[in-house]
Amino acid sequence: MTDIVDRPEGAGRAPGRRSANGRPANRGSANWAPANWAPAADSILNSTGPFGVMLTCMLVGMLGLVTYAPYGFDAAFGIAVGAAAVVAMSLTLILAARPRLLEPLFGGLDKMYRVHKWLGISALILMILHDQVEPDFERSVRETGLGELASEAGEIAFNALLALIAISWFRRLPLIRLEIPYQLWRFSHRFMGVLFAIIVFHQFFVDLPAGVDPTLGLLLNGFGLAGVAAWVHTEFVAPRLRRREFTVSGISRQGDTTTVTLCPVGRAMRWRPGQFAFVRAPEAGLSEPHPFTIAGAPRADGTLSLSIRALGGWTRRLPDALREGMSVQLEGPYGRFDFRKGGARQIWLAGGIGITPFLAWAESLTEAERRAIHLVHCVRTPEEAIGSEILKAAAGRNPRFSYQVVVTARDGRLTAERLIGSTPFTVSDADLWFCGPTGLKDGILKRLKALGQAPRRVRFEHFEFA
Ligand SMILES: Cc1cc2nc3c(=O)[nH]c(=O)nc-3n(C[C@H](O)[C@H](O)[C@H](O)COP(=O)(O)OP(=O)(O)OC[C@H]3O[C@@H](n4cnc5c(N)ncnc54)[C@H](O)[C@@H]3O)c2cc1C
Repeated sequence: MTDIVDRPEGAGRAPGRRSANGRPANRGSANWAPANWAPAADSILNSTGPFGVMLTCMLVGMLGLVTYAPYGFDAAFGIAVGAAAVVAMSLTLILAARPRLLEPLFGGLDKMYRVHKWLGISALILMILHDQVEPDFERSVRETGLGELASEAGEIAFNALLALIAISWFRRLPLIRLEIPYQLWRFSHRFMGVLFAIIVFHQFFVDLPAGVDPTLGLLLNGFGLAGVAAWVHTEFVAPRLRRREFTVSGISRQGDTTTVTLCPVGRAMRWRPGQFAFVRAPEAGLSEPHPFTIAGAPRADGTLSLSIRALGGWTRRLPDALREGMSVQLEGPYGRFDFRKGGARQIWLAGGIGITPFLAWAESLTEAERRAIHLVHCVRTPEEAIGSEILKAAAGRNPRFSYQVVVTARDGRLTAERLIGSTPFTVSDADLWFCGPTGLKDGILKRLKALGQAPRRVRFEHFEFA
């Protein structure tokens, strides 16, 4: 997710410093971004998606309330929350289909997944309310066999959905630190669409009073079908349509990071520096897709590399399972982490493997780049500091780009004071781009704020979909 924190203009400035590598501060020489409205417009655009889905659920709920008001408050409320639940579930499934066209409205796929998660939780709460205040139209409807079946099917699907959404919500169980294995979680998640289809059946055929305005019913039918179609697309169509074939042309290792170079087979993939793709390598027994940032700038021949740190089951198996010549499939690109949306002075702060988007950015920098950029890469040991050739070349090409590697085991931890001291411009005049452990970001930002050096804007990428 790319989050933004804005600081009011003019607050908390301090004199500029010289960089650790001796470069003079670029204060005064760098231009501000061509137009400062661009980031603001971007953040407005990014809020459209979350706001839009919330509004849609609320409007449909209100329509339910108005349509069934003549049957009393309980019935109208029961219908309203049921209708909002169907819409929330449908939108949850639509967002799970990773629609690339909608990404800009959410500020990236990771943010879209966040909204997906909260929509799912909202649907759960709405369904519980619908179950509790079940509308009773017994005296106003003529009961049918199909309606009875739809009612029972709804009840069964409701209970099963309750269990599945609860499992998804509590993937990491609070307090006891127990985590449901990702594969199991993902497997259980796959059945959501089937259960939603049963809910749609319930909504289509459940007995309702005759003569009510059909608008709500038609709307819900539309959302229901769209949700089911999105699920079918996610599970059966997209995996075939979106995948691009690559061949492994190189594998190198540095510490617990494996860098894999991939050559396209057929149509190459086009991406922007900082974007990521879902990667699977069935030939190596790694069929589950995992997200990785493309750790380099786009090349004319479509070759790309991924730097993958061994952190769990899939990533630990990768170095031994993958061989040159094997086929690998990529789905993407996704993501909207893009320094070109930032201001004229930028600090890029990376923790560990969080360096990958910055490597792509650094490799894409040309001599013509006018922004003053200082990159700090925090690692525990020297062998964790991957990509030094890319950073060195970028600094050689562009005098406005400087970088520094902080090895905790050798140099101690990065502090806000050290960051201020090594940055060749005033930190409070700069945008901070971050990718790495949340603790590092929070610690540095808290202290910068205390020192009156809070960056103008903070943007960060999570290496986890939460
Ligand atoms: C946008 C993005 C970009 C990333 N870029 C890089 C990169 O350049 N280099 C790098 O080393 N790592 C990157 N990661 C992290 C990488 O995806 C995880 O480390 C890896 O998926 C862990 O899988 P595992 O089975 O080895 O570990 P596990 O221990 O099974 O999983 C660790 C955590 O990773 C997440 N995860 C696991 N499997 C998946 C999956 N299939 N899809 C989504 N999340 C999953 C889960 O939150 C899980 O709790 C990135 C992650 C994201 C979201």
